[in-house]
Amino acid sequence: MAELTPTPERPGLHISKPSPSAPATASAVCHCGASATAKGDAQVKALVDGYTANHGPAHHRTGR
Ligand SMILES: [Zn+2]
Repeated sequence: MAELTPTPERPGLHISKPSPSAPATASAVCHCGASATAKGDAQVKALVDGYTANHGPAHHRTGR
């Protein structure tokens, strides 16, 4: 699934949860240069919330 990992050239948010019992992992790269990774359901949720609130589509809403 490496092709789904976001990069500075293809920014975005990718979440992986191999199985219901396995911890989720996520990686995010924003076109502004920010990047983050998270492992574990709680950390992944925090990453997704922070990314969507401050990066990615949020840049378009706020003009940042
Ligand atoms: Zn950003």
